[in-house]
Amino acid sequence: MGPDHRGTPDLTAIVRVVPDVPSFAVDDGFAYAVPDGLSVGVGDIVRIPLGGRRVRGWVVGPAEPPEARRIRSLIGRSGEVAVFDAALLDTLRWTAQHYVAPLATVLAKATPPNLPKGRRRPAPNAALRSEPTGSVSVHAAPAPWGPLVRETAAPLLGDGHSVVVVAPTWPEAEALIDDLGDRGLPIVVGSSHLSAAVLTRSWVEAATVPGRLIIGTRDVAWWLPPSLGAAIVLDDGRRGLKEKAMPTVHARDLLLRRSRTEGFAAIVTGAVPTPESLAAAGTVVRAGRAWGLVEVVDRGAAEAGDGTFARATAAAIRAAVADGRRVFVLTHRRGGAQRCARCRLLRRCGQCEAAPGTGATCERCGAVNGACAGCGGERFEPLSGGIPRLVAEVGRLVGEQRVGDRGDGRAVTVGTERDLVGLTVDLAVVPDADGFVMAPNYRAAEDGLRTIARAVLSAGSGGGRRAVVQTLQPDHPAIKALRRGDAIEFLGDEGRRRAALGFPPGGEVMVVEASGLPAERRSQLGEVIGGRAVVHGPTVVDDTARWYVQGPDLGAAKVVVRPLVGEWREAGVRIRLDADPIDL
Ligand SMILES: [Zn+2]
Ligand SMILES: [Zn+2]
Repeated sequence: MGPDHRGTPDLTAIVRVVPDVPSFAVDDGFAYAVPDGLSVGVGDIVRIPLGGRRVRGWVVGPAEPPEARRIRSLIGRSGEVAVFDAALLDTLRWTAQHYVAPLATVLAKATPPNLPKGRRRPAPNAALRSEPTGSVSVHAAPAPWGPLVRETAAPLLGDGHSVVVVAPTWPEAEALIDDLGDRGLPIVVGSSHLSAAVLTRSWVEAATVPGRLIIGTRDVAWWLPPSLGAAIVLDDGRRGLKEKAMPTVHARDLLLRRSRTEGFAAIVTGAVPTPESLAAAGTVVRAGRAWGLVEVVDRGAAEAGDGTFARATAAAIRAAVADGRRVFVLTHRRGGAQRCARCRLLRRCGQCEAAPGTGATCERCGAVNGACAGCGGERFEPLSGGIPRLVAEVGRLVGEQRVGDRGDGRAVTVGTERDLVGLTVDLAVVPDADGFVMAPNYRAAEDGLRTIARAVLSAGSGGGRRAVVQTLQPDHPAIKALRRGDAIEFLGDEGRRRAALGFPPGGEVMVVEASGLPAERRSQLGEVIGGRAVVHGPTVVDDTARWYVQGPDLGAAKVVVRPLVGEWREAGVRIRLDADPIDL
């Protein structure tokens, strides 16, 4: 018996190895004999002969000797530290199925960039006092998250358990480390922002030294400490937690799955968590308002006036600048809402109710964008504009030398969601809240509330700090939640509304994109899926066919899509597959 994690025995006869080849064809791995004098265990990186080459691979378990074929031997072990154990491997196999990725691609995600050298992974201390659990809880609270992390981690670290904390962005991971202060906490940082050498060193420390507080970006969700007591996911609705490239893994979902199979506590926190985390949570903790008071300006009211900024909003911006205060004006990355130029009614898609964009058809559902539903008018005006237009408009209010992009050091900054990380101002202004909560996306209301709440939080509260949000629909559920400073009830309603439409978390969705697929093969996806799920599409733009696949549970559909994707790839078709897409 070797010293591997959780008492996994060393395998000394014949082992199954998945080669590091990004292909579904090697998912099952191959049997190799372990040479005399070498002992390997589950999760060890090894070198193997494969088709006349030497490649890297991972040991996934024992194997039977193959019949009628001479068995080849491993060449050797690479590095000392196993990348996964049997329990994590179970989640990695699930990940490969759920995100329709080759198992080798997923195993590579869990592996540090350089060879993990050091001592072997220690067995957990059997005398650990606090027993980890598989519980999931949501704490509705904004940053700073130092107190929650410290409170959760302290008793676990003291007992030799490690704790993993995943932040949406690297600056937020750094801010958390600052917030925790220098209190002798055994912090290990992990992120692909670090060099390969530093990242590997951190990975090895996290994997071999018990009782570490592991803080980083989504990369650390894959790490396996000797004993994991808890995982904390910060602001789980943010894009940074989901991989953009395939496999499009969401760090929260990876950790929720791990918490069930490995038996540790999962904690999700954020001012506006997600219907997904709430659906998984056994406990929801809220402590008062999650953000400060918001002045909601009804742009439909007579006294609001015309133009991008209502009179009250313009006055707030002028007063703040006159006081030498800093102002942030939040706009959309693209799009935004419009209203009828004649009757001023907010423009909605007649079919899906989204802000339908300025084209001939709705950006979300493709329905024809008709005339105004109120008066039949055909001219519409945007409720906000891109950064250049807003900079010009604010310039007319306070003088153009006082307004610019973030980083200009001007009194007023105009920016988008990406400028919110680490932002602190005295006045936050959202000229077009409707463009956020009605964006052409099934998650728009939730996501819009989250983004607006982050802008509000950037202005803090008290000491004359304010947040002004303009809307044409003050009774929209997201705007009501914004006023209350509490998203939980709204998110519960959102979850139920989405479930009724078959969207996550009440249903599953997957987007499949294929470029270079011959037209006569486009029917294959629907044919293999059959009655296992509903296949919408394809819509074809240039050379790319796009489907979305929907059902209460796509597990069975993914099983049959897997070989088809493999076949298409072999034929040179470029595939992008996004399970649980964030933008749809
Ligand atoms: Zn109208
Ligand atoms: Zn629509």
